[in-house]
Amino acid sequence: MTVLEATKKRFVPVSVFQLFSIGLGPSSSHTVGPMRAARLFAVELESQGHLPHVASVTIELFGSLAMTGKGHATDIAVLLGMEGDSPEGIDPNSVPERVSRIENEGTLNILGSHEISFIIDEHLLFHKGKRFTFHSNAMRFKALDSKGDQLHSDIYYSVGGGFVVPQEEALEPSFTSSVDETIPFPFQTCDELMEHCRRHQMTVAQIVLENEKTWRTEQQIKEGILRIWQVMKDCVARGLQQEGILPGGLNVKRRAKEMYDTLLKGGDELQDPSEIFDWVSLFALAVNEENAAGGRVVTAPTNGAAGIIPAVLHYYQKFIPSFSEEGVVTFFLTAAAIGILYKEGASLSAAEMGCQGEVGVATSMAAGALTAALSGSNEQIENAAEIGMEHNLGLTCDPIAGLVQIPCIERNAMGAIKAINAMRLAMHNDGDHRVSLDEVIEAMRQTGEDMQSKYKETSEGGLALSVSVNLPEC
Ligand code: SF4
Repeated sequence: MTVLEATKKRFVPVSVFQLFSIGLGPSSSHTVGPMRAARLFAVELESQGHLPHVASVTIELFGSLAMTGKGHATDIAVLLGMEGDSPEGIDPNSVPERVSRIENEGTLNILGSHEISFIIDEHLLFHKGKRFTFHSNAMRFKALDSKGDQLHSDIYYSVGGGFVVPQEEALEPSFTSSVDETIPFPFQTCDELMEHCRRHQMTVAQIVLENEKTWRTEQQIKEGILRIWQVMKDCVARGLQQEGILPGGLNVKRRAKEMYDTLLKGGDELQDPSEIFDWVSLFALAVNEENAAGGRVVTAPTNGAAGIIPAVLHYYQKFIPSFSEEGVVTFFLTAAAIGILYKEGASLSAAEMGCQGEVGVATSMAAGALTAALSGSNEQIENAAEIGMEHNLGLTCDPIAGLVQIPCIERNAMGAIKAINAMRLAMHNDGDHRVSLDEVIEAMRQTGEDMQSKYKETSEGGLALSVSVNLPEC
């Protein structure tokens, strides 16, 4: 069973705070998910009482993680996850020093309390060309005692957006239930969501808020959303001040600061109306340059596409006079609803959907969410979200050298502008539209399934092949 088949058979409620989680770059599926998986394995070793007896650990990466894991920092993520770090808690500035210690001393300190010998070339293996059926992004962990006997082994899948599925869940049993009744308004399709809205005379954001109250109070939800918004603002602010070359060997220059300085020289007034595009692009570049540098970002709904939603929100803040914090909350709740629809109906993973599943989904979420923040109707929200994806169908994932830099950084700028335009098209319309969001999600899923694997985060096709690069072997 593949993850796409499995998803159709189950419904697990997803919180706003799972779709928008605070993590670090450059990738939600290749950095955030693997760090979570490695930490889960280490915690499992501890909870089963194995930890004091562990003498060695082997970590194997498969599928897309093996193909592009080096450029996406998967190797670093699993090591730090084994040492107990989480994407939310780790200080991005501490990473280089931590990794050099592991490399130079040849040791790994599991959960910070049990040190073992760990030689990266021997114990961290990239199985290029091998993949598991369930999902391309697979990791296998094994822990052995001093006699070489296996204490524990497990397989985890990083299924996109930082979500992790352990092998036992991939096989059974949670994949057998249908709709979960613990939330008041369960939905897996846009039709179901719109039916709730119609029947109860509620907006999309109100529906998600009521569901979210299953886990938190309304105040906690609003505070949590505003905290995420603050992390996005901090990320943009940092990105606007950084200069130099991004890591990885492609020699990609950071552009946000220079562009920001140029725009600031023009003063508060726009020099020409199209300068708004420059500002929107700037905000996206700032986030995605931070992401490419391994900085703190919000997964929205992935890291590769993390710039689109902050850029659109900054546009809302800077250029829309009716901007309000209440509007920001509405934006996030609506964006979460749309993200859930893609997670349920297709996937957020570029290893399954290509870049449709990252930049396409983020564009769709931002388009619908901005429409909601501007008081668009539920039908206009659906229309904007549908437009946001319709014109990203077929978008491949072909990052050069496996780094989340080209085309990823500029692609977020393009996605943000497309999202704003989708909102405008929808708002000029009365909400009536020919293609439904469910239909476009199904088209995306089918297109993703038909897409050759060389266009799905393996760096074996597209720009990754046509652009020649000479990177030092590491
Ligand atoms: S091409 Fe798109 S999906 Fe692929 S790594 Fe870049 S942003 Fe992510």
